[in-house]
Formats: sequence, C-alpha cells, structure tokens
Amino acid sequence: MSKYYPELGLTREKLLKKVKAQMSKKRYEHVLAVEEQAIKLAKIHGVDEYKAGLAGLLHDYAKELPAEEFKRLIKKYDLDKDLLNWGNNVWHGMVGIYKIQEDLGLKDKEILHAIKVHTVGCKKMSDLDKVVYVADYIEPHRDFPGVYKARCLAKKDLNEAVAYETRGTVKHLIDREIKIYPQTLETYNYYIDYLK
Ligand code: GDP
Ligand code: FE
Ligand code: FE
Ligand code: FE
Repeated sequence: MSKYYPELGLTREKLLKKVKAQMSKKRYEHVLAVEEQAIKLAKIHGVDEYKAGLAGLLHDYAKELPAEEFKRLIKKYDLDKDLLNWGNNVWHGMVGIYKIQEDLGLKDKEILHAIKVHTVGCKKMSDLDKVVYVADYIEPHRDFPGVYKARCLAKKDLNEAVAYETRGTVKHLIDREIKIYPQTLETYNYYIDYLK
C-alpha cells in the first residue's frame, strides 16, 4: 500500500507521478533527496517529519515553469509588483506556492511558507522553514566547497546552518555579479550573528 497524503487526497504513487511530470529526471532525484534529508533534519531537531517530507518533496515543483506562467500568477494573485523584476530563481519559491495550490490543492500554511522561502529565506523562520532551507543546500548530491561544514552545522544547530548557508549564497551571488533579492539580505542580516 502506497502512503496516503490526506490533505491532497492522493496516494504517494500518484503524487510522485505529478511531481515527476513537472521536472527533469535530475531535479526529480534532487527533490526526493531533499525530502529524505528534510525528514532526517526534522527528526534531529524535533520538527514535524510529515510536513518536512512533504515540503521537501514539493519545494522545487515550480522550478521549470515558463516565465509567462509566473507572470500570470503574479498578476492573478496580486503579488508584489517588484517580483516582475526578478527571475525563475526567486519566483519558483515565492510564486511557485500559488501553482502548487492550484495544481495540488495544498492548503497547509506552514508547509506552503517553508516552500515559499526555501530559496531566499526570511527573518524569524520557523524550524520547519529552516529544515527545508537547509536540506535543499546539503542533500547528498550537493557538492561545493563548504558543503561539509554546512552538513556538520545542520546536525548541530539550525540557526548556525541557516547563517552559514545564507553567507555562502550571498558570496556566490556577489562573485558572479548577480542581483541579490532584498529578502535574501534580510535573512543574512537576521541570522549572520549566529556564526560568531
Ligand atoms: P535549487 O532550486 O534546488 O537549485 O536551490 P534554491 O532554490 O535554493 O536556489 C536556486 C538558485 O537561486 C540558486 O542558484 C541560488 O544561488 C539562487 N538565489 C538564491 N538567492 C538569490 C537571490 O537573492 N537573488 C538571485 N538572483 N538568485 C538567488
Ligand atoms: Fe529551489
Ligand atoms: Fe536553497
Ligand atoms: Fe531545491
């Protein structure tokens, strides 16, 4: 018997089919790995494992949507007009949650928020938000300088892990002369002191 997701009215088998249909094989493997990683972190830090797993599984659901679809969602849901100045990397979380609600009927506010901020973070993240944000960064396929330290911090302290990840993301964006979304800087300013 496949696991059942009551709030979606779907078996795991059917949900996986829907997720898989939205993305490349590589990204599908990534989301399965983030699901598993998020459940592990949830266990360690006393977070709801079911919510962490479902948020992990769905966090990149909208990553491969065309720009036109995001623009439609920004207008339809009367979201901040400034979002139109950004791109897929910012949209797939911040705007992606509206697609997830439309396609899957997901209503859980805590899960939706964790997906919303999984790329840019925010001030005062919930522990569920932190688990998903960090799991995305450290899942086993990830390989970059600093991932070892990020994995160690993730087991030890969620706030330090969020700080270390945000520092790494900001450095990465600056090195490549990529614009930083203001909310990413808010996350940085709010969490960076945890590293000291
Ligand atoms: P992924 O979806 O699993 O690849 O991971 P994320 O959702 O965490 O990040 C997606 C991309 O967005 C990465 O390349 C990040 O470096 C990038 N990103 C993170 N924060 C920002 C930001 O503030 N501005 C921009 N332009 N890109 C960002
Ligand atoms: Fe993402
Ligand atoms: Fe991330
Ligand atoms: Fe991801």
